[in-house]
Amino acid sequence: MDFELSEEMRMLKDMSYKFAQAEIAPLSKECDEEEKYTPEIRKKAAENGLVACWVPEEYGGAGVGILGNTIVTEEISRIDMGIGLNVYAAAFGCEGVFYFGTEEQKQKFIPPVCSGEWVSAGAFTEPNAGTDVAGYRTRAVKDGGDYIITGNKMFITNGTVCDWMLVQAITDPDQKAHKSFSQIVVPADLPGITRNKIPGKMGIRSSNTAEIAFEDVRVPQENLIGKEGSGFYQLMHFFDVTRVMVAGQAVGLSQACLDESIKYCKERTAFGKPLGAFQLSMKKLTEMAIKIESLRNVIYKAAWLIDEGKPDYHLAAMAKFLGGETAVFCANAAVELHGGYGYIDEYNVQKWYRDAKILELYEGTKEAEIMTIGRVLMSK
Ligand SMILES: Cc1cc2nc3c(=O)[nH]c(=O)nc-3n(C[C@H](O)[C@H](O)[C@H](O)COP(=O)(O)OP(=O)(O)OC[C@H]3O[C@@H](n4cnc5c(N)ncnc54)[C@H](O)[C@@H]3O)c2cc1C
Repeated sequence: MDFELSEEMRMLKDMSYKFAQAEIAPLSKECDEEEKYTPEIRKKAAENGLVACWVPEEYGGAGVGILGNTIVTEEISRIDMGIGLNVYAAAFGCEGVFYFGTEEQKQKFIPPVCSGEWVSAGAFTEPNAGTDVAGYRTRAVKDGGDYIITGNKMFITNGTVCDWMLVQAITDPDQKAHKSFSQIVVPADLPGITRNKIPGKMGIRSSNTAEIAFEDVRVPQENLIGKEGSGFYQLMHFFDVTRVMVAGQAVGLSQACLDESIKYCKERTAFGKPLGAFQLSMKKLTEMAIKIESLRNVIYKAAWLIDEGKPDYHLAAMAKFLGGETAVFCANAAVELHGGYGYIDEYNVQKWYRDAKILELYEGTKEAEIMTIGRVLMSK
C-alpha cells in the first residue's frame, strides 16, 4: 500500500493550481457577478492538457486517468468551482462514449472535446424527474435509419454551449423501466432542438445550465451508444466515474475554505488575541481539516479503483456524499470564522458558501447517495 502521489501526479497537481491562479482567479468575481461563461479559459485549459485529461492519449487526452482528472478538478476548484466546472465538465458525456461507444464513435466524438474545439454535455435530468432516473420520458422512435427524439431535458450543464450531448431516451416503452432506455449522441445544432439558458443560479454562476427541448429531432441510428436497452445500466456506470470527479470539486472548495480561514484567524484579532488562539475557532479549523483529510482519502481511493479497472459504485456514492457534506460544512465554518466580513462579496468565502450547496444536489442528491449506499449495505 502506498499513499504517496506519484511524481507525475504531484506535477499535475502543481501545474493545475498554477493554471487556475494565473488564468481563472483574475476573472472569478466578474464571471460570478455577471453569470459569464468563459470559453477562452476552457480553450487554454485544453491547450495545457487539462480538459478530459482522464482520456487515454489515443483519443486525444493526457492519459492521466480518473485520479489525475480528480486532482485537476480539485486544484482548479480551490480557485473557482464554477469556472472549474467549465473545464471539468467540458467533456461531460464523453465518459459514456468512452466506456460504451464503438472505436469509430470514440474517435469521432472525444478528441475534439479534449482539444477544446468542442464541448459535450450529459442530458439526463428532465423537468419532472431527476432522482427518479427510471421516470425519464424522452422518447427515441426508430424511423428508417434514424431515431426521432421528442422530449425535454432540464438543468443541463453546457446546455447552450455544447456541440453534442449524450441523451438518455426511451427506445422500447414495452420493456420494464430499467430495460427501456438507451443513450444516443445528439449533435446540438440539429433542427427541432431548442436550448435556453437558465439564469439566476445561487452559485457556480459562471457555469452554463440550460433547459433543452427536442421536437422530432432526427438522429442517425449510428449515434446509439452501447446496446439498445442498456441506457439505464450505462448511466449508473457513468455516475460511478463522474461522482468521484464531482467529489474532487468538493475537496478543492473545502481546502480553499480552510486555507482562507487559517489566514484570517491569524490576522484578525478579538479581545487582544488572534481569532486562532480561541479554542472555539480552533475547533472549527480542526473539524474542517479532519473532514478534508478523510474526504481526500476516500476520493483518491475511489478514483484509483476506477483506474485499476475495479470501479466501486458504493465508494463513489460515499465520496460524493462526503464531498457535499464536507464542502457545505467547510463553507459554513469559513463564513462564520470571517464574521460579518464573511457575508460580503469583498471576501471569497461568501461565494464558496453559495457554490458549495450544489455539491449536495447535482450528480445525485445527498439523499440519492444515501439510498445507493443503504441498498448495498442491506444487500450484504
Ligand atoms: C446547476 C445544475 C447543474 C446540473 N447539471 C446537470 C447535467 O449536466 N445533466 C443532468 O442530467 N442533470 C443535471 N442537473 C440536474 C441534477 O442532477 C438534478 O437536479 C438532481 O439529480 C435532482 O433532481 P431534481 O432536481 O429533479 O429533484 P427531485 O428528484 O425532484 O428531488 C427533490 C428532493 O426529493 C428528494 N428525493 C427524491 N426521491 C427521493 C426518495 N426516493 N427518497 C428520499 N428523498 C427523495 C431529493 O433527494 C431532493 O431532496 C443539474 C442541476 C443543477 C442545479
